[in-house]
Order: sequence, then C-alpha cells, then structure tokens
Amino acid sequence: MKLILARDVLAANDKIAEQNHALLSSKAVTAINVMSSPGAGKTTLIAETIRSLKQDLNIAVIEGDIQSTYDAEQISATGAQVVQINTGGACHLDAGMINESLGHIDLDAVDLLIIENVGNLVCPAGFNLGEGYKVMLLSVTEGDDKPVKYPMMFHESSALLINKIDLLPYIECSVEKIRTEALKIKPDLGIFEVSAKTGKGLDDWYRWLKKMVRRNGTQDEN
Ligand code: MG
Ligand code: ZN
Repeated sequence: MKLILARDVLAANDKIAEQNHALLSSKAVTAINVMSSPGAGKTTLIAETIRSLKQDLNIAVIEGDIQSTYDAEQISATGAQVVQINTGGACHLDAGMINESLGHIDLDAVDLLIIENVGNLVCPAGFNLGEGYKVMLLSVTEGDDKPVKYPMMFHESSALLINKIDLLPYIECSVEKIRTEALKIKPDLGIFEVSAKTGKGLDDWYRWLKKMVRRNGTQDEN
C-alpha cells in the first residue's frame, strides 16, 4: 500500500508552481489567480476587464472549469488569447495544469495573464499556481458571513472584489461586515466594491491591476 499525504501533494504542486513563476517572470508576465464560489461573476468581471484595458495591456486568459468551454467562448469574444482547462471533476486548478496551458500561450505577447479558477470557495486557495497575486470575488448574494466561514481564501488573497453591489437594495447583506471581517483575516487586503454588470467601482480595480503590472516592470509609469 502506498500512502500519499496531502502535504506531499502540496509540496509537489509548489515545485511546479515555482517553475511557472520563473517562466512568467522571465517573460515579464503578471499573473493573477481569480477565485470565488460558482456564480460570483468571475467570467463577467474578466471579460469586462479585458474590454476596458485591452488598449493598455495585452491580456491572456486561462479558463478553469470542471467541464464545458462556455466561459472560454465568452472570453474569446473579447479577442484575448484563451486556453480552456477542463479538470474532468477536479474542484480546483493545480500548478501542473497551468504549466501545460502556458505552453499554448504566446507569453512574449502578454503583459497580464488572468487565470479563472474553478468555482469553489475552499481548495483553490490551497494550491499555488505560480501566479503573482490571488484575487477573490465575493458577490453580495452569497451573504456577509463568508469571511468568517471560509477564512483561508481571504487570507491568501491580495485583493477582494465585493461584486453585484447593484443588488444590495434587494437583499440582506452588510458590506461593512464583509470589510471588517475580511480585514481581520488579512489587514492589507485591497477591497473593491464593484458591479461587473453595471461597471460601478471597476475603475479602482483597474487602477490596482495596472499598478501590479507596472510593479512587475512591463509597463512604463503613466
Ligand atoms: Mg466562470
Ligand atoms: Zn479542489
């Protein structure tokens, strides 16, 4: 019998993540790993971000889904390079899947790589992909108890987008509570209140994203 411990799986994953990170750094590509539960609005946000920033940045996308090419088709309509990963049941992306996908992207022509993880509030946070930053989306329809119940993803993230704020008049959700609890878990978390659908609040998100790309040295200060 062979016993494999979770920590061995994670260590093997980290090794490949380091290779991905080295490759992305050598090509001056800034990579973000976008995580959320299913239906929080990742694909809508990513498509909107590409439409708004494609004059300034060359953006490519890796789409992670258990099944289907539905999201990749939506992203493809923006004109961005896109690779779809179907995990065939796995509930998160791992570094090996990203390693393989990177071989299908012309990294020399990319400033910003957006990785859309599988919709899941739990294990995506445990698997490094070699990204520069983890970014989390939480829609207000999911409830304001999520930081308390699922702290790990908040802890691992550099930025939190509180999405679907256009729906706040119709539901019980305290954005203040999300902010307070999330900042207890991660005091330097960047928090953006947005509606990917109406565009409200997205300018601050774009500024943050451009700052991260500039910090990586691919863009001149402007
Ligand atoms: Mg999606
Ligand atoms: Zn998983």
